[in-house]
Amino acid sequence: MSWEETLKVIPDGVQTLSKMPNKHVNRVYPKYIDRAKGAYVWADGKKYIDYPLGLGPVILGHGHEYVNRAIVDQLQDGIVYSLPSKKETELAVKICDIIPCAEKVRFVKTGSEATSAAVKIARAYTKREKVLCCGYHGWHDWFSIVNEKKDGIPTILGDLIEKFTYNDLDDFKSKLGDKHNCQIAAVIMEPYILEEPKDSFLHEIRSLCTEYGIVFILDEVVTAFRTKKFSAQAYYGVTPDLTAIGKAMGNGMPIGCVCGKAEIMDVLLGDCFVSSTFGGELASIAAALATIEYMETHSVIDKIWRMGDRLIESFKTITDSMGISDKVYLKGLPPRTFFVFPTVEHKALFWQECLYRGVLLGYAQFISYSHDLNVIDETITAMRGAMKIVRKHWDNPRQALKGDPQEETFRLPESKEKENGSKEDDNEAGATNRDGSSNSKSVAKPEHGIAKNTVSPDGGRPIKVPAKL
Ligand code: PMP
Repeated sequence: MSWEETLKVIPDGVQTLSKMPNKHVNRVYPKYIDRAKGAYVWADGKKYIDYPLGLGPVILGHGHEYVNRAIVDQLQDGIVYSLPSKKETELAVKICDIIPCAEKVRFVKTGSEATSAAVKIARAYTKREKVLCCGYHGWHDWFSIVNEKKDGIPTILGDLIEKFTYNDLDDFKSKLGDKHNCQIAAVIMEPYILEEPKDSFLHEIRSLCTEYGIVFILDEVVTAFRTKKFSAQAYYGVTPDLTAIGKAMGNGMPIGCVCGKAEIMDVLLGDCFVSSTFGGELASIAAALATIEYMETHSVIDKIWRMGDRLIESFKTITDSMGISDKVYLKGLPPRTFFVFPTVEHKALFWQECLYRGVLLGYAQFISYSHDLNVIDETITAMRGAMKIVRKHWDNPRQALKGDPQEETFRLPESKEKENGSKEDDNEAGATNRDGSSNSKSVAKPEHGIAKNTVSPDGGRPIKVPAKL
């Protein structure tokens, strides 16, 4: 099948923006993936170590046997009934066990549904309409209106939502308005993206929300199941009112949830409506139960962090040896990192050469439980070879590039370092940062579950738009 045939029947050829050819090194990267297993995918007959991992949902590894068995068993008994299954309760109880704020749970299929439901519940509970947000929260109208791609959304929705800057408490406070006539229903934010919260940022927001009667929602669509202790709220010791979960909950099966305090969730007993045919679909619920059980019995998250650390540190030894570790590095936390290069051409050449050496990269690099020592070491060998080529063509990377550099659909404003005249990347850093984070090269690791605050050299910069889906 040709890509032209695909384009005839599928807009852009994809269902998800991040899968578009122009988000990769077009004309070098494969257009389709044929199959996947463990830490690997196969495309055009070649095997690659997979780092985008389906854009984050694959936490144990592709086609993991333990989860597969649970799904297949469930298929034999049917997967959609017209009355609830007891397995829904079983999973809800599990979620309440592992997610600190969860007292009640409603299952949905996607992260966007989970965040949209959370915001709707918050509006119903507070009888207010405005929302403050920080990060990416999905494609639905209430949030998309603050992004670049907003055709088809009533402009009036723009009056109801405003962004604030990560790790900038003054910015947050400036958007709260009058405490005695507060119009804000919800604050929704990702707990971290590229840098950790500093100066008790999450705790400060938590207490301001309480003071102003605002529902505090953590969007843990990415961070739940990947952060130590199963969630960023448990890890950092801050309990929101509601939480949105998606991505990794079912090791790739489409399932997420909104969960939170019973008193707030109970607006669903009244006229706040969150309901869909597939909400209790059981192949995904069985997958989620199996995923959680496996994670609880196999130290999955610890291993993912260890392997993520190894990737970050080993990559740094490569760039150190070439004297470029101030220009090329990985940022983010161990379970999800992002490459920074001086220009998009340098980054594209690196992606191309990694692909030639059997490593498939994406906007964000995730780690799964199947990424063991051998996989990471194989990756590092490939990356060393790829970086040698990048180094060789440092002054003109385009010369060695066989395809087109990745395009960033959602671009971010210039970094503060840039504004201040530093030599920081003028293209890529702006493109990859979406959380107002620092460009610090090392990842500060919390010890014993307590977050160590990192000092960001730039003090954060405003999020213009998110840059991943
Ligand atoms: N919230 C966050 C933090 C996300 O990263 C995403 C997806 N990348 C979403 C919400 C939306 O999830 P989905 O794409 O499953 O609708």
